[in-house]
Amino acid sequence: MLDALKKAFAGNDENGNIAGKKGEIPREKSAELYEKAKQYFPGGVNSPVRAFKSVYGTPLFIERGDGCFLWDADGNQFIDFCCSWGPLILGHNHPKIREKVTKTLEKGLSFGAPTALENELAELILKHNRYIEKLRFVSSGTEAVMSAIRLARGYTGRDKIIKFDGCYHGHSDSLLVKAGSGLVTFGETSSAGVPKAFADETLVLPLADRQAVETAFSEFTDQIAAVIIEGIPANNGLLIQEPDYIHFLRDITRKNGSLLIFDEVITGFRLGFEGAAAYYDVHPDIITYGKIIGGGMPVGAYGASAELMGCISPDGGVYQAGTLSGNPVAMAAGIAQLSELRSSGFYKGLNQKTEEFVAAIQRYASAKNYKVKLFSVGSIFWFAFTSQPTIRKADDIDPASMELYKTFHRELLNRGVYLGPSGYEVGFVSAAHDKTQLEKAKRAIFESLDEVFRH
Ligand SMILES: *Cc1c(COP(=O)(O)O)cnc(C)c1O
Repeated sequence: MLDALKKAFAGNDENGNIAGKKGEIPREKSAELYEKAKQYFPGGVNSPVRAFKSVYGTPLFIERGDGCFLWDADGNQFIDFCCSWGPLILGHNHPKIREKVTKTLEKGLSFGAPTALENELAELILKHNRYIEKLRFVSSGTEAVMSAIRLARGYTGRDKIIKFDGCYHGHSDSLLVKAGSGLVTFGETSSAGVPKAFADETLVLPLADRQAVETAFSEFTDQIAAVIIEGIPANNGLLIQEPDYIHFLRDITRKNGSLLIFDEVITGFRLGFEGAAAYYDVHPDIITYGKIIGGGMPVGAYGASAELMGCISPDGGVYQAGTLSGNPVAMAAGIAQLSELRSSGFYKGLNQKTEEFVAAIQRYASAKNYKVKLFSVGSIFWFAFTSQPTIRKADDIDPASMELYKTFHRELLNRGVYLGPSGYEVGFVSAAHDKTQLEKAKRAIFESLDEVFRH
């Protein structure tokens, strides 16, 4: 136990070597909690991305959040750019969300029967979204995507789907599939426990490659139910696609009687209220939402035209249900958050703030000739330790560059800045990140880059 504590302390690496930097933050309490958690949960966590496997030290156990700040169990304060992996576009513990949630929970937590709150959130979304006419609330992004795929299959009567290498769509069986060998082949399961038969229905293609998509459609004519893509791929670096390519996907799916699914679990309500669909001016057939839609509570949704949604039970034959779907407390959080996002100039301000933040860091890094490039769109950013001017596919990311991120992450924690514990993760700026805190974060980032490139 003591050894484990020592190892975990101060961001030492797996071998227990002192990482070499003085001014390490205290991490004893988190390390202690982690030791306990390991007795209860696989890897000590309830979602593997939290496990700090790709960075130094053990996970920080969080005590509370407020605005752009997080506090861990040892009392360390951080400016948070992970923002619960995206949902917290207004920052932590927003007073309006807290108030609405508190008022709602006083009336009971769940009824398993419809409430007016579901109508209210649906209205708020549908009134201001040109791309969907009806929706269905679920409890996670995974569920939203899983249901969207079922809808696409049910509607088209086809089984195969196309997904892209470098896009994450949650952990349902059909989507835990990675590229096989060869350009247009069936995928291989990327998790134990996924039947090969499922992987056989999923084609995994490289992003930004029209030829691959054309070949897939010509080899599997009339068999492809849908093409699914993240609004902007942001789960494996930030792989910004050219608008022409997205329009190409729209055209080729339409031509072939397949559906286009935009997985907007990150980009929905992030790039703008109408997400990536409006950003590209593309009308997908089905859109999935999650993260921001629930204001920090577990909510997902999928939406489409009234005709398509008519296929969902009880109107149609595609079954999908949920005991806690449309949960009143979760709806309340969503309503409070999305109402704030409707205020005029919200996205303009947020995106501009992010752009300036990112540009200042890039200027600093470029002036020092550091091999680092920041990719960003809206209020999403990604640090790539590369000199490539663009990165559009998963294969273009150099895994060796992740070593640099590891150091960067440790140095940032020691300077009070919290980023996701993997170099493949993007960061988010929230409305709660004010000028003063962004200035502080910038300075911490400059110093941390200096440490990364010290040799
Ligand atoms: C987070 C995410 C999911 C999965 O959502 P969960 O709520 O974690 O199940 C699906 N798709 C995308 C694009 C995501 O970013």
